[in-house]
Order: sequence, then C-alpha cells, then structure tokens
Amino acid sequence: MKTAEVILKPEVARRVAELYQDMEAAYDQTAKALDFSCSGCPDNCCDSYFLHHTYTEWAYLRYGLKTLEESQLQNINAKAIKYVAESEAALARGERPIIMCPLNTDGRCSLYSYRLMICRLHGVPATFTRPDGQKLDFPGCFRCQEHIAADNSVTPLDRTQFFRRLVELEITLLGHRRMTAPKVKLTIAQMVVKGPPVL
Ligand code: SF4
Repeated sequence: MKTAEVILKPEVARRVAELYQDMEAAYDQTAKALDFSCSGCPDNCCDSYFLHHTYTEWAYLRYGLKTLEESQLQNINAKAIKYVAESEAALARGERPIIMCPLNTDGRCSLYSYRLMICRLHGVPATFTRPDGQKLDFPGCFRCQEHIAADNSVTPLDRTQFFRRLVELEITLLGHRRMTAPKVKLTIAQMVVKGPPVL
C-alpha cells in the first residue's frame, strides 16, 4: 500500500502551538503559586525516560528539526542513535534508562519552542482524569515536593483538558487513518532516528 509522510496542515500546526502555549501558561501559574522555579536545580529532567504517543507531536517535532542547521542536526542524530542503543540495553537489563535527551545541548533544549507536552508539564504537581473517570495524581519533581510540603494549599495543574485537546488534534490529523495507524510509543530519540512519521 502507498504510504506518505504525516504532515501537519498550517491550521493544525497553529493549534498545536496554541496548545503548547496554554500548557506553558498553566505550568507557570502553578509554579508561581508554589513560588517554585527550575533555576538552581542540581538535576536535569531531560534525562527522564518519557514515551510520547501521538503522530501530532511527532510531526510537530519534525517541523522544529527542520529549523536547525545541518551540523546541529547531524550532532543530534548521532546522539539519538546512541540514546536508542543505550536505552534498549538498559531496558533489556530491566532498568529504566536515565540518558540525556539528544536535543539537550549544554543543559538547554535545542528545540525549546517545539518541545513536547510532557517536557512542558513535568515538574509541578498535577492531576489527570481519564475518560473512564479515574483520577491520577502526579506529585511533581523532588524539589517541587519540598515546596508543597511548605504550602499544600496550591491547586495542582489539571492535565485533562490538554490531553483532550491533543487527542482532538490527533483525530483531525489522522482522520480515517486513525483506526489502522500503528500506536505511537516512542522516545524523542526514536522519533529523531525514525525520521518523519509515515502512514
Ligand atoms: S525535548 Fe527539550 S525539554 Fe524535552 S527532554 Fe529533550 S531537551 Fe529536554
């Protein structure tokens, strides 16, 4: 069967950017209420093992990668190949990989405005209500938990509406292909190594 790259139409790309901005604003609001900031942190969350689940974010990340210079891209590709090999080895040993994201250069994200949802929401305490009604709680990173211990009156960030909007975008992007498209369950490194999503 003929396949083609999954490309975001400008309107969908605009909505992804808007969604990401709203996530950032919600994060900032919760962080501010907790008087919490990442500056001075001895840790770097970018070595956390996160999997991403939508063609929408994968395709949007490709947009970002296209803005980089060739030398930067080559460097990121080399780091991504290494990341994939090392993470597979760690998983085979039954360990959760702790490896720096290939997009992180000298402690900073090379694609900050294109970074994925979990990069934007991780850190502060959050909740998520699943479609079946079950509520999940995320305590936030270790430093943020110290702030919560000092003041537990702050309302956690509710991730539910952001997930919903991302699912809506995924439905718009894939249309009828959604029913047959293989599920996405990839690290950023795997997305880089695989190249653009193709269906
Ligand atoms: S995409 Fe950027 S913010 Fe997200 S883990 Fe990688 S370097 Fe960090």
